Amino acid sequence: MIERTFIILKPDCMEKNMAGKVLDRLFTKGLKPVGMKLVRLDDRILTEHYAHLKDKPFFPGILKFMSRSPVIMAVLEGEDAVNVVRLLCGPTNSTQAPAGTIRGDFGKDVQENIIHASDSKETAVTEIARFFKKGELC
Ligand code: UDP
Ligand code: MG
Repeated sequence: MIERTFIILKPDCMEKNMAGKVLDRLFTKGLKPVGMKLVRLDDRILTEHYAHLKDKPFFPGILKFMSRSPVIMAVLEGEDAVNVVRLLCGPTNSTQAPAGTIRGDFGKDVQENIIHASDSKETAVTEIARFFKKGELC
């Protein structure tokens, strides 16, 4: 089924100038961009986006990391897009992510892992609405 998912190219990805490489992998796999923008995230929106982690000891570290450089956010569309993009990203911890995955090839550790991607169709709908206005999607 054709569906949409949401990604963030995180500050580490931007600082290492890897956005092009990561987008190339996603586009080459057949994902089509529907929306895209450069944004500096603030604590308010990050606290909402990472609400499921707010009681974890590393939560303050996520806020600091995710706001330290502007990020690229995008909505991608394609067959089974949510699962396909999660598979291309690999597991959360870059040191355990297999070679050939985005996190395995470009990530540093469990925090600096290059990319966020929605983890379910329901989350994708919520995250797209959180970060994009209807008029920003083509
Ligand atoms: N994170 C972290 N330490 C951890 C687990 C997660 O810094 O022990 C960060 C990491 O950047 C991760 C984000 O928090 O991508 C969101 O965590 P989640 O468990 O939702 O992982 P994801 O869905 O990104 O794979
Ligand atoms: Mg997650």
